[in-house]
Amino acid sequence: MVDKNQLADAETLVRFANLKPNDFEDFRQKYPAFFPPSFWVPRSLPQRMPEPRNPPEVMARVGLPEPQNPKQTEWRPEHQNLYIGDTFTLANLIQPMIQEMWQTKFPLKSVIVLIGLGNGTALGDELDLEAYPYQNALMLLRDEPWRAGFCPKCGTRFVKTKPRQVFCSDQCFNVNRKAYQKKNWEDRGDKYRKNATKRKSGGKKP
Ligand SMILES: [Zn+2]
Repeated sequence: MVDKNQLADAETLVRFANLKPNDFEDFRQKYPAFFPPSFWVPRSLPQRMPEPRNPPEVMARVGLPEPQNPKQTEWRPEHQNLYIGDTFTLANLIQPMIQEMWQTKFPLKSVIVLIGLGNGTALGDELDLEAYPYQNALMLLRDEPWRAGFCPKCGTRFVKTKPRQVFCSDQCFNVNRKAYQKKNWEDRGDKYRKNATKRKSGGKKP
């Protein structure tokens, strides 16, 4: 039996994974204790870093699009490149990692790294020995990776409550069922019309 709280935490984690860049602040206000406070502290890259981590020429070599403005001051989730003076939060930094884990089914190493970030020391913060809901969620998804689902109807990530669950919601399930019924009805309608034509042209059987 899965712990109900842990399942609720996993559902909060998927809400976080699905956030659009402008919705981070709303999430923080709604779930202030989900991550450690340190995850929301704005940070900037140390000045001593002489070069951007991935300068534009490297991006070009590996076939990635060049950042529009190398002096950007805001975090851009579409490319994980940080430049000197950029500000970011750990929440910004880990979202793409969690999104990737939804596809890679929560590999042990990534889970350990993400859980470890919660104790603060990885980035020189004070030691934090609290257990946080995001860690509960990661433990559950690590133990039961089948729960990490993508809805075939709307494409969103979601947490499955049963292994055979396919759709994220009743709404997506119903939309899909209606489309199936409509198609089924049309296919059968075609067959019916064909048979009717056969009967007409075939005439009476002896
Ligand atoms: Zn859906």
